[in-house]
Amino acid sequence: MAESITDPTAPASPGARQRPAPRFPVVLEGQAALVTGANSGIGKAVALGLGASGADVVVNYVTHPETAEEVAHQIEAGGRRALAIKADVSSEEDVQAMFAKAIGHFGTLHIGVSNAGLQRDAPLLDMTLKQWNEVISVNLTGQFLCAREAVREFRKRGVVRDISVAAGKLVFMSSVHQEIPWAGHVDYAASKGGVMQLMRSIAQEVAPLAIRANAVAPGAIRTPINRPAWETPAAYRDLMTLVPYKRIGEPEDIAQAVAWLVSDAADYVTGATLFVDGGMTLYPGFTTGG
Ligand code: NAD
Repeated sequence: MAESITDPTAPASPGARQRPAPRFPVVLEGQAALVTGANSGIGKAVALGLGASGADVVVNYVTHPETAEEVAHQIEAGGRRALAIKADVSSEEDVQAMFAKAIGHFGTLHIGVSNAGLQRDAPLLDMTLKQWNEVISVNLTGQFLCAREAVREFRKRGVVRDISVAAGKLVFMSSVHQEIPWAGHVDYAASKGGVMQLMRSIAQEVAPLAIRANAVAPGAIRTPINRPAWETPAAYRDLMTLVPYKRIGEPEDIAQAVAWLVSDAADYVTGATLFVDGGMTLYPGFTTGG
């Protein structure tokens, strides 16, 4: 019987259910990955998951260096190399310095996961230009800057057959809100809609170089970014009205999807968005949530 984990915080209800224990096949040995925003939530789980899959990992952070170092130590404890690097993904200078340091340390990079993101929520009429610019700079411009640096390195090195049949793999962290409009969060929804076409256009452009680009679109995942949506039993119950599969997503649900997308098992997958959302995008009436 498959190992499973009971959700300790889900209120007892017919919908509360178990989830499988995460599994990471070791298929990324010899590869180096860079994950942005890797000291919290989804990014942390992705960094640990890629490490468990055999990759060496750059753990990017912008605040709280101690949490980034802790993630790096956990990866090293599993037998892989890790390096925490501070960089604001919305700064071209920071991103270029981070990639130079990462490539200097690991020799090259094979995998780039642009995960860093934030919300600055307000009704349209109250939304400031500062809020709008901050969200677009981190969630969209940051993904452009990281993808450009990663592709420069992938193209320079090319395919090394013993390592991977692709020259490089990019994953863009999107959201169900690349598809579902989100009243009260127009900056965030616009940034994720932008990520979708950024990813698809890059995928088309770099496919002839044997570089793959895909996105993962999480639904409601239990992380600090959406704590109010799950931290009380009442909030959790409300959230479940939006999730046909009737459990909240865990960061490891996303990490496993990313680990598969960057592996050679997904070699014919490019330009795709993988929705990991318990069916949330199947409800057309959805207006609020993660
Ligand atoms: P989180 O707040 O736990 O993590 C966000 C990470 O991004 C943090 O490490 C933060 O420090 C980092 N970050 C923010 N600004 C940065 C900057 N300028 N430079 C570098 N790093 C920066 O939230 P999370 O839920 O783990 O979010 C991760 C990604 O997943 C985001 O892109 C988010 O939009 C997306 N997402 C999350 C959910 C969810 O339900 N949690 C749903 C859909 C999409």
